Amino acid sequence: MEKLLNFIDGTYREPVNQQYLDNYEPATGKIYSLIPDSDEKDVALAVEAAEKAFPVWSKMPIEERSAILVRVSEGIQKRMDEFVAAESRDNGKPVSLASHVDIPRAVSNFHFFATAILHFASESHVMEGEGFNYTTRKAIGIVGCISPWNLPLYLFSWKIAPALAAGNCVIAKPSEVTPYTAYLLGKVCEEAGMPAGVLNIIHGLGASVGDAIVKHPKIKAISFTGGTKTGEYIARTAAPMFKKLSLELGGKNPNIIFDDCDFNVMLSTTMRSSFANQGQICLCGSRIFIQRGIYDKFKDAFVERVKDLTVSFPTDPKAKMGALVSLPHLEKVMSYIELAKEEGGTVLTGGGRIFPEGHENGYYLQPTVIEGLKYDCRTNQEEIFGPVVTLTPFDTEEEVLEMANSTQYGLSATIWTNDLKRAHRVADEVHAGIVWINAWLVRDLRTPFGGVKSSGVGREGGWEALRFFTEAKNIFVKY
Ligand code: NDP
Repeated sequence: MEKLLNFIDGTYREPVNQQYLDNYEPATGKIYSLIPDSDEKDVALAVEAAEKAFPVWSKMPIEERSAILVRVSEGIQKRMDEFVAAESRDNGKPVSLASHVDIPRAVSNFHFFATAILHFASESHVMEGEGFNYTTRKAIGIVGCISPWNLPLYLFSWKIAPALAAGNCVIAKPSEVTPYTAYLLGKVCEEAGMPAGVLNIIHGLGASVGDAIVKHPKIKAISFTGGTKTGEYIARTAAPMFKKLSLELGGKNPNIIFDDCDFNVMLSTTMRSSFANQGQICLCGSRIFIQRGIYDKFKDAFVERVKDLTVSFPTDPKAKMGALVSLPHLEKVMSYIELAKEEGGTVLTGGGRIFPEGHENGYYLQPTVIEGLKYDCRTNQEEIFGPVVTLTPFDTEEEVLEMANSTQYGLSATIWTNDLKRAHRVADEVHAGIVWINAWLVRDLRTPFGGVKSSGVGREGGWEALRFFTEAKNIFVKY
C-alpha cells in the first residue's frame, strides 16, 4: 500500500516514530494509502529546517521569490490531472468539481500572491515641519498553517501562498482526512527550485501535529481554518504565547430570498449554494429563508430539482454530488436529520444513504430538504456541514433579519431581491463578513475574506493576508 511521507527540509521523510494512519477513500469506504502519524518530534525537525531557511528566503530579492512561487503555480497546472484525481479520490468530491474549482483555484492562489507581493507597499506619514514616519513590513519568521478537509488544496494554498510570498517559512498541516494533494505539493516545490526548509508539510492528527504547531514557541503566527471548537482551543492555547492568529471557522449561513427576485437564476444558484461539494463548504447557505408570497412556488420547484440531482461516485461524469468525506462525518450529518425530525421538521426529500452500484460501502447521502422547523431550534442553529438545508418562510425584512442573525455564526449571507435599496439595507444589517447580492460564491482574491462572531477572527485574501503574514515597524525621522 502506498505510504505518504512528510516533506521536511526539502526531502520526503518517514515520521520519526515510524507510525502511520489509514487513509480511506470515501467513494468506496476502503483504505487506499497510509499517512504519517507524526508528532511533535517531526514538528521540531521542521522548525529547525525553517530556522535555517528563513534568512535566505526572507532576504531573497522579491522578484526571485515571486518567480519561484509562479513556478509552483505552473507546476500544479502542469500536473492538473494528477492533482484532480488525487483530490477527488481523497475527498469523495466529483472529479468535475476538483477539475473546475479546487485545483484551478490552488493554481490561482499561488499565482495571485506570487504577483501581489511585487505590488505590496507600506505607508509613510509626513508630520509637517517636524519629520516623517515610514513603516516597514517584514516577514514574521516561522508561521504555522493548518487547514481542513473540505477544499483541501484550495484552502491549504490560500494560506501557504501569502505566507511564503511575504517571506516567511512555513510549517503546514493538511487535514489528516485529505492529505494527498498536500503530499504532491512538496514535489512541485522541489521542481520549482524552492530552497529546502522554506515549506515543510507534516501529516498527522490535529491533536498531535496540529497541537505541536500551535504550541511551538518558535512558530510566531498561526493561520487556521476549521471548526469553531478547534479554533477556540487554538485561541486559548496560542493567546498566552502572544502569537498572531487568523481563525476562519464555522458558519450557518442564511440564504434570504425575497419574492421580487429573478426566480430562475435564484433557483439554479440556490441548488449550488445548498449542495455544492456535498454541502461541505463553509459558505453554503444551509438556512434558506423564503418570503411567504413565493414560498410554495419555491418549495415545489426546489424539491423537484433536488430529486433530480445525481449522487454518484466521483469518477462518474454524471455525478453532481459525490460521497461525504468520512464515515464519522456521514454519521454526524445523519444524526442532524434525525434531530430535525425530533424537533418537528418534515423531510421533503432525501434523508437517507445511497449505495451506488460497485460503491456500496461509500459514504453517500441524499440531498435533504427540511421544512417546518423553528428558526431557533438546534437544527437551525448548529453547523451541519453536509447536504442538508432547511426552508423557513418569512413576511418582513425585520423578521428575516432577526432569524438570520440569531445564530452564533456570521460567515456569509446571500440576498435575492431586485429592490436595490432593500438589498443594501439587508446587506448592511446581516451579521456576516461576506455578503452576496443576487449571486453566490463569486470570489475576487483581492477582497477581504472571513467571518464575524464565532465564525472567526481576522481576514484572509489580498492585502489582508499579506498584512497578517508581516510585522509592521514604524520608524520616525526628524527633519
Ligand atoms: P477541524 O477543526 O476538525 O480541523 C481543521 C484542522 O485542524 C485539521 O487539519 C485538523 O486536523 C486540525 N486540528 C484538529 N484539532 C487540532 C488541535 N487541537 N490543534 C491544532 N489543529 C487541530 O475542522 P474540519 O477539518 O472538520 O473542517 C470543517 C470545519 O471547517 C467546518 O466547521 C467548516 O465550517 C470550517 N471551515 C471554515 C472555513 C472558513 O473559511 N471560515 C472554510 C472551510 C471550512 P485533523 O483533521 O487531522 O484532526
